[in-house]
Amino acid sequence: MPRYAEMSKAELEAELAEVRARYGEMAARGLKLNMARGKPSAAQLELSLPMLDVLDSEADLAAEDGTDCRNYGVLDGIPEAKRLMAALLDDEPENVIVLGNASLTAMYDAMVRYLVFGALGSTPWGRLPEVKWLCPVPGYDRHFSICEDLGIEMIPVPLCEDGPDMEEVERLVVADDAIKGIWCVPKYSNPSGITYSDETVRRLAAMECAADDFRIFWDNAYAVHHFSGDPAEQDIVLDIAEACREAGNPDRYLKFGSTSKITFPGAGVAALAASPANIAEIKRHLGVQAIGHDKLNQLRHARFLEEGARLPEHMAAHGALMGPKFELVEKKLAEELAEAGIATWTNPRGGYFVSFEGPAGTARRIVELAKNAGVTMTDAGATWPYGDDPADSNIRIAPSLPPLEELDAAMDVFTCCVKLAALEQLVEE
Ligand code: PMP
Repeated sequence: MPRYAEMSKAELEAELAEVRARYGEMAARGLKLNMARGKPSAAQLELSLPMLDVLDSEADLAAEDGTDCRNYGVLDGIPEAKRLMAALLDDEPENVIVLGNASLTAMYDAMVRYLVFGALGSTPWGRLPEVKWLCPVPGYDRHFSICEDLGIEMIPVPLCEDGPDMEEVERLVVADDAIKGIWCVPKYSNPSGITYSDETVRRLAAMECAADDFRIFWDNAYAVHHFSGDPAEQDIVLDIAEACREAGNPDRYLKFGSTSKITFPGAGVAALAASPANIAEIKRHLGVQAIGHDKLNQLRHARFLEEGARLPEHMAAHGALMGPKFELVEKKLAEELAEAGIATWTNPRGGYFVSFEGPAGTARRIVELAKNAGVTMTDAGATWPYGDDPADSNIRIAPSLPPLEELDAAMDVFTCCVKLAALEQLVEE
C-alpha cells in the first residue's frame, strides 16, 4: 500500500470504501473497551493484595519510633514511611512530608498556598493582577485543570524528546515576572513517555527567572515505572534538588509523588519533598489543615515495600504486565499505520501512556469514531491547556487497563478510526 499522500483520488476513494466497511463491521460488534485513563489493570492490583495482610488486629501497630499508628499525631509521616517516600522522590527523609492518598491534592494545595500566602514571603500570588504557568505539551490534563480551576493562565511550551523546549522556556521566564512556575513530569512523562535529560534539569534549575518566587512543580509520578529490569541509562533523571542547590536556587522546586501506581490508586500514600525552607513553610500551614495523615496506611506501605528495598522487585512485576501491552500498541500502530504515513507516536520504556499524533484536524473525529464503535479514548484536546489542541492532532493512548486480548481488539478499532478520519479528510479536500 502506498502512502496516502501519494494516492490518486480514485485510489483514496477505494481505500475509504474498504476502511469504512471494516469500521462498520467493527462497530456492529457492540464492543465496550476503554483506553481512556491510566488505570492499573486488575492483574496489577493483585500484586499489592498481600499488603492488606500486613496489618491485622494481631499486628504491632507501633511505628519504629514508638508512635501508635492507630492514634492522632505526626504531621510529616512516620520514619519508615518517610524513608520509603524519600527513596521514591530521590531525596533525604528529612526533606519529605508524607501526605494523604493523592499527590494531585498535594499539588493543588501547594498552588492554593502560594495564591493565598505567597512563597517564602513574596506577595501572595492571588493578589497579583495575573499569574501564569508554563505547561509543556502534550501534558497531563489534571495539571491543567488545577491551573484552570484556580484562574492561572496557562502558556503551552513544546515538550521535546529530552524535556520542555528550554530555549522557549528560558525566553519566556526571563521576560515575564507573572510566570510563576512550570509543570514537569520528568520521567516517562504523561502522555509522551519521554524522560528529561540532565541538561534540561540543569537548565531548569539555573535559568534566570523574572519572578524570584518561580516554582518548578516536579511531579515524579512514574519514578520507578519502567517496563523491564533496571531503567535505561537515559531514564535516570538528575536530581532537581541537587541541580537547584548547585545553581544557587535552592527553593525553586517542589517534588511530588505517590504510590498510586505502585500499590492502589486512591488508597496509596502521597508525599512531597522540598528544601528545608519550603518544608518549614508548608508544615506551618499543613499543621492547621490536619493533625496528621493515615499512619496505618503509611505503616502498611513501609512494611510491604520494605521501605523501598522491595520496590525494584515489585515494579518489575508491574513492568512484566505493562511491557507486553506497550509492545502490542507499538506493533499494531506500526502494522496498520506506518505504510500509510499518516501518523507518528511515541514508544516509551516506562510510564502509562503513548502519545499519538494523527493528521492535523482529525483527533476529535478519531475519538468520536472510536467511541461510536465502543472504544473510549481520552478526549481529544485533553493533553493541551483548556482542552484546546490547536492542531487537533494529539491523542493519548492509555493501554494499561484492558487485558491483552481486549487491547488487541481496541487497537484494531483505533487504527481503523485513524485511517477512516484521515481518508475522509483527504477525499473531501
Ligand atoms: N501526576 C501524573 C503525571 C499522573 O499521571 C497521575 C495519575 N494519572 C497523577 C499525578 C495522580 O497521582 P495521585 O494518584 O497521586 O493523585
